[in-house]
Amino acid sequence: MLLDLRTIYFIVAVSCFVLGILQLAAYATGRFERWPLWWGLSNLLVGVGSFLVALRNLVPTSVSIDGGNIVTIAGYMLMFFAVRVFSGRALDQRTFWLAIVLVSVPVVLIVSDPSAVSARLLYVSVICCLCDLAVAREAIGIVRRERLYSAALLVGLYVCTAAIFAVRSILAATGEIGGPDPFGSSAIHSWMAVSAVAFIMLRSMAMVLMAAERSRNQLTELAHHDPLTGALNRGGLAQHLPALGSQPVSLLIIDIDHFKQLNDRHGHAAGDDMLRLFASVSRGIMRSDDLLARQGGDEFLAVLRNVSCEDAVAIAERIRLAFAAAVMQQPDLAIFPTLSIGVAARGERGGDFERLMQKADEALYRSKREGRNRVEAFWENQQAA
Ligand code: GH3
Ligand code: MG
Repeated sequence: MLLDLRTIYFIVAVSCFVLGILQLAAYATGRFERWPLWWGLSNLLVGVGSFLVALRNLVPTSVSIDGGNIVTIAGYMLMFFAVRVFSGRALDQRTFWLAIVLVSVPVVLIVSDPSAVSARLLYVSVICCLCDLAVAREAIGIVRRERLYSAALLVGLYVCTAAIFAVRSILAATGEIGGPDPFGSSAIHSWMAVSAVAFIMLRSMAMVLMAAERSRNQLTELAHHDPLTGALNRGGLAQHLPALGSQPVSLLIIDIDHFKQLNDRHGHAAGDDMLRLFASVSRGIMRSDDLLARQGGDEFLAVLRNVSCEDAVAIAERIRLAFAAAVMQQPDLAIFPTLSIGVAARGERGGDFERLMQKADEALYRSKREGRNRVEAFWENQQAA
């Protein structure tokens, strides 16, 4: 036969050892989260399992087959555990180890006489197939929750390996593979084992891609948001502006009144709390696809999509009143900051965002001049006073 099954099992073992050691070394640098620890251990276990199976007929069956199968199952289940840790949904460790023990028990119970080889192969294949489907399901969750597109690659890979294990289960159930000499002449079994090497490599690459995509997303998120309030910063807002195209938008420029006095009287930390309070009140009123950005200091921009100037003024009023009500509920305040808001709108014909900013700014200054704690709008047919 072209492919000797024992040699292939050795190759699977060596590949898993190399990957496992690399992942544990990466974890040891302390620059990663905890998942490479579990993923690396799972590769080592699958490697040890394959190595023991490859020693069939060279060492006692209880070591090569029973031991090999149990360690392989533990490795597969640990892979699922690693993906759960990656997705931030870690399982309780004690329950998990108990599950591994419970799933392993039948392997020991299935006696080691030659006629039971197919039964054991069937059992291990079904467990591995279920583990792969569980990982694929978890990866679908990661795609949905985090929009990590490389997780879709993981889904594809695990669906493929689950299919391979399903075929292996059927072949074992029908006695096509796993006869008295499983290292005998089954070409299908050999090719399935060869494909395992490729999939083991690809899965680890997909995990690394997912980690890279996640850190890129986290860095972008950090770079585009104000850490204090969670609102977009100027750079973050600039990233969103092209997507607005020429659609009608209204812009609110909002400045907190007497903020300096609040800082001076109650301290910088109280000022920070007020900025956070403002952001949370505004978010509660704005729609999810509107944009809130911190322009700097105590000045914010709210970009409202497909909202007329009249509606934007009404929304600005709601923000102003809700903020005033929230401030009144803060304990031990001697200064009660309010909001001055300037509103401008860009209609169907679109227009320059810079020009819209100028108009809203003019309206804001009118609101400050006319006594603060008010909303003023820049109406197209009536220049600001
Ligand atoms: P006005 O009513 O005219 O808006 O006056 P104001 O007191 O709000 O004063 P102004 O807007 O000119 O000053 C804003 C102050 O905000 C000045 C600065 O010390 C303070 N500030 C800027 N960034 C932060 C911050 O991140 N946290 C805190 N606590 N204060 C900040
Ligand atoms: Mg101010």
